[in-house]
Amino acid sequence: MNILVTGASGQLGSTLKSIANTVPGLHFAFASSKQLDITDFEAVRNEMDKNNYAYCINCAAFTHVDNAESETDKAKLINVTGARNLALNCHEHKTVLIHISTDFVFDGYMNEPYREEDIARPIGFYGDTKYKGERAIINNLQEHFIIRTSWLYSEFGNNFMKTMLRLGAERDELSVVYDQVGTPTYARDLAKAILHIIKAHSIDYGVYHYSNEGVASWYDFAKAIFDEQGIQVTLNPIRSEAYPTPAARPKFSVLDKEKMKSTFKIDIPNWRDSLAVA
Ligand code: NDP
Repeated sequence: MNILVTGASGQLGSTLKSIANTVPGLHFAFASSKQLDITDFEAVRNEMDKNNYAYCINCAAFTHVDNAESETDKAKLINVTGARNLALNCHEHKTVLIHISTDFVFDGYMNEPYREEDIARPIGFYGDTKYKGERAIINNLQEHFIIRTSWLYSEFGNNFMKTMLRLGAERDELSVVYDQVGTPTYARDLAKAILHIIKAHSIDYGVYHYSNEGVASWYDFAKAIFDEQGIQVTLNPIRSEAYPTPAARPKFSVLDKEKMKSTFKIDIPNWRDSLAVA
């Protein structure tokens, strides 16, 4: 079974690559942004014409939350037009699309975990483009799995864990926001869940949530990283108002994962357990 992975040199794409050979019978084509630009409709069509892909896993995105506020055209092009291009081409080629979206489609005003059917009301441009990308897929392709995830970290790419480890090595004291609450997600756990869906040949298409189990603020996450690594840093919890950023971020974006767990019969590790193996 042939599987195309777009955005393959990013964090999730690299993670998928690192575990791809654990599943016999799956043949992956990993395409970086240079090898396949998802905003180029004809390039995507040519790639799909040449290979009989059963699945396309879209890891490509404009992911810089703050830059999206100023680089609006680029964010829209990649996150909306790119998603639509993939959906249209998957439809033409009878390919199932597994697309990754984000907890940032929610406004964060709830105080219990967001379910798939809760109203998406993004408060930043990145979340807005990701939500419009979801809609572009849903409107053009039935055979889709849209997986919303949150706070991805791994040994690959840029992420909060790597930033903390770098800063922790440079400084004795750090201030970290405590009033934004979500769930860290180890990219390897998400990648395994994606492969599980493929192996199951599931036709339960739709929108799903996947993050690790548990809840954390960025402060909690930072503290756990330093505790795990035995790094001595004085951590100061600060309010998000004390650390202004170009993009607003939801105060609460914990995802409810019951649909994912019950549909695919998967166990999801707690983020603290995943941190210990990361
Ligand atoms: P990364 O930023 O690490 O990777 C994104 C990749 O997309 C990069 O390799 C980038 O390539 C590539 N890309 C950008 N534009 C194009 C294009 N036009 N055509 C093809 N590839 C392109 O993101 P992650 O791996 O962390 O994220 C994976 C998914 O998860 C994304 O959909 C993201 O929105 C979602 N997500 C991520 C979260 C996180 O905390 N990181 C949280 C929630 C959801 P290049 O570097 O060459 O531009």
